Amino acid sequence: MEAVLSGMMPDELARELSLKPSFRGRQIFEWIHKGALSFSEMTNIPLEFRDSLKDKKILSSEVSLESASEDGTAKITIKLQDNSFIESVLLVDENDRKTACLSSQAGCAMGCTFCKTATMGLIRNLSAGEIVEQFLHLQRKYGNISNIVFMGMGEPLANFAEVLKSIRILHHPLGQNIGHRKITISTSGLTSGIRELAETGIPVRLAVSLISAESDLRLKLMPVAGKESLKQLKESILYFQEKTKKRITLEYVLIGGINDKKEDAVKLRHFVNNLKVIVNIIPWNPVDDLPYREPDEETISSFISTLEDLSIPVTKRYRKGRSVNGACGQLAVLQNSPDPSDSGRA
Ligand code: SF4
Repeated sequence: MEAVLSGMMPDELARELSLKPSFRGRQIFEWIHKGALSFSEMTNIPLEFRDSLKDKKILSSEVSLESASEDGTAKITIKLQDNSFIESVLLVDENDRKTACLSSQAGCAMGCTFCKTATMGLIRNLSAGEIVEQFLHLQRKYGNISNIVFMGMGEPLANFAEVLKSIRILHHPLGQNIGHRKITISTSGLTSGIRELAETGIPVRLAVSLISAESDLRLKLMPVAGKESLKQLKESILYFQEKTKKRITLEYVLIGGINDKKEDAVKLRHFVNNLKVIVNIIPWNPVDDLPYREPDEETISSFISTLEDLSIPVTKRYRKGRSVNGACGQLAVLQNSPDPSDSGRA
């Protein structure tokens, strides 16, 4: 596959494109992040350079489908250079703040039984450039984006190096300049990755998908729990906390009749002891062919009240993007299809 320019730092661009003097790499980096789609737009680059580069592609991927929901959520399907497809989502909050929800892999190997992406299996890891391009496509279509969450397709800590590089690029002051604190990595609980992330010293936020604080139930819902016990998970979170002094988010996908009872809340109370966390309740979003049901509003309110009574800090994620199947756990697209709209999405 061709080298992906959007996945390069300024010095790498200068080397890749044999640019001298090297500040030309910085100029090209700035243009890419201003949204240039061709070298001919880069007016501060001498004409002979632009001419010599005119056959090079700036972006390696293209948007093949987009859909918007009445609540402001938008989803784009992106075709990669090997004809794989991925999806990315734009979330808009009540203050009009825009967040890009990015995919780190095409598909996912983690097999969470409540998640549509899991039904695709893992197609492949995405390169840093393919991750950065999701941001660039969303920003080009919907305007300035201030926050990033790695909560799209895939397990970001299973593609650690490329995710980290994409963060370095998106944080670069000559480009998007997204603050580390405005970037959240969401993991299914890969303990070695959580430790590795803590050791980088990069102050991004961490969210861990817990789903249940009861080992057998968690294992049933998240096969990753077979390799990573709740005890190991808690130790890795404590390590992250000790290294970063940060509060982390525990994501709790609430599934009707599965993990929504008082005893589930009490087990969660035990798990969060000694942890500086906030629990984010995410009501499960319906996905065809998966054997679960969404919790009703009364169940959600009662579960949240129980957590509050147990002095667990809690928030609820509002249901957004469902009409475009862009809500949490709903992302999936048939691969190598001439028409990705003909997909297996929920
Ligand atoms: S919930 Fe996340 S980690 Fe689990 S299968 Fe879905 S995308 Fe992968």
